[in-house]
Amino acid sequence: MMADEHKNANRITHWIDGASWDGISARAGDVFNPATGQVTGRVDLASAAEVDAAVAAAAGAFPQWRQASLTARTQVLFAFRELLNARKEELAAIITAEHGKVLSDALGEVTRGLEVVEFACGIPHLLKGGFSESVSTKVDVYSIRQPVGVVGIISPFNFPAMVPMWFFPVAIACGNTVVLKPSEKDPSAALWVARLWQEAGLPDGVFNVVHGDKEAVDQLLEHPVVRSVSFVGSTPIARYVYENGTRAGKRVQALGGAKNHMVVLPDADLDLAADAAVNAGFGSAGERCMAISALVVVGPVADALVGKIRQRMDGLTVGDGTRDCDMGPLVTEAHRDKVASYLDAGTAAGAELVVDGREHKIDGADEGFWLGPTLFDRVGPDMSLYTEEIFGPVLSVLRVETYDEALALVNDNPYGNGTAIFTNDGGAARRYQNEVEVGMVGINVPIPVPMAYYSFGGWKHSLFGDSHAHGMEGVHFFTRGKVVTSRWLDPADRSSGPAGIGRDSAVNLGFPTHD
Ligand code: NAD
Repeated sequence: MMADEHKNANRITHWIDGASWDGISARAGDVFNPATGQVTGRVDLASAAEVDAAVAAAAGAFPQWRQASLTARTQVLFAFRELLNARKEELAAIITAEHGKVLSDALGEVTRGLEVVEFACGIPHLLKGGFSESVSTKVDVYSIRQPVGVVGIISPFNFPAMVPMWFFPVAIACGNTVVLKPSEKDPSAALWVARLWQEAGLPDGVFNVVHGDKEAVDQLLEHPVVRSVSFVGSTPIARYVYENGTRAGKRVQALGGAKNHMVVLPDADLDLAADAAVNAGFGSAGERCMAISALVVVGPVADALVGKIRQRMDGLTVGDGTRDCDMGPLVTEAHRDKVASYLDAGTAAGAELVVDGREHKIDGADEGFWLGPTLFDRVGPDMSLYTEEIFGPVLSVLRVETYDEALALVNDNPYGNGTAIFTNDGGAARRYQNEVEVGMVGINVPIPVPMAYYSFGGWKHSLFGDSHAHGMEGVHFFTRGKVVTSRWLDPADRSSGPAGIGRDSAVNLGFPTHD
């Protein structure tokens, strides 16, 4: 970038201990508006020292936050919920300016994040333990859940608000303190959220943000005070984070990439299926971990379905997310070029290019990172169009003869994040939800993102670790269970004199049993 551009670019700093914190590493990255191709910000990239400062702030805030009453914690959460709800348009505008997704979609992302905040507002109920009276004579047993301490969250570019919100409302509600490292591609949303927490009354140091890349991530993974890491991103980095985080003794949940299949049976409502394929294939320019990228059509309905999809694609508007378009640009020029390269690869491999996104009319600046919606038919399972996660507006149709072939395709795929089946046969749908090896399943629903009170997460290479995000799995991830066995003598049984006098001696070196 030119020196002039740097001069005008807004500096995006860290947020540590309740204040913005200039980076000391002298490393910084460009942040773009993908719809204009212009640099709009320079984000500080943390070295180990900045991560250490954020972790120290979080560790310093932990003892008091962990002791804050449930009433005090929920008051902050409710205040945060109210502020976020009242000002969600501001956050959506920040997302659109750095990610590129259209405003309505950005608002949808914030709304889904808000649902997790609302779930976390119920923490007094969620943290209730069990109590068993008189498991033995005058002995009771009860369970409690306590926070784990300083938790790290590392998030991807495609949901700069929602994905961090899958974790931090629950983590904070449970009494933990947080260091968030958002994607360096669209970092401003995290800073805006940090200020909102402060406004909501969260004590300084409970929520910290460090910007950065591998250097910051590695320090979070190694830092002995960081007790857990919640990661979302591509599969190779998710695996790396899981392996290194667990090696360093941390609890890790690492959500990875995806290749989501939508299976259409011959009896499906084809108009419903066509709408769903277009919405789930091209929403957010295909940059969703739950986007549909493989459409598996069973039997003779493929021609009809492809025709209906093509018809709908003609009507899609692509352009600047601040205008009234259906789809925005891709996040960076490099990513746009990579996604576009699959169009040549697909054609060369023999797939039929039905709609070429490079020819789509664009309502935006020439320098934006554009690629219109693209449809391939007759894609083979060995083609890179199918074997790789493209993460762009490219939908591939695979034709199969039977349900069993469709199921085998989905189950043989290394990813297992989301899938959908379209059919009017309840028995077939039921069989699919039973047999498919995927974490989130939609039946005539194309993007089956679970509500906040269920848990989000895939199977196979889409998730490393045992815990999915939010819901009760989130509460368990951010707490440790403790079971207390207690005996209180009845006042009538207590000795009034020296120990032992007034009741029979009960010395017994055998293993405790119950009576
Ligand atoms: P990414 O893996 O490139 O980056 C994710 C995070 O890891 C970022 O914070 C980034 O700074 C950091 N990072 C990047 N390279 C690193 C390295 N070498 N070492 C350590 N840290 C590194 O992912 P992305 O491009 O930001 O996001 C898109 C990916 O995220 C897609 O693969 C998508 O499927 C996936 N995703 C998955 C889910 C899910 O729920 N499974 C949700 C959203 C996105």
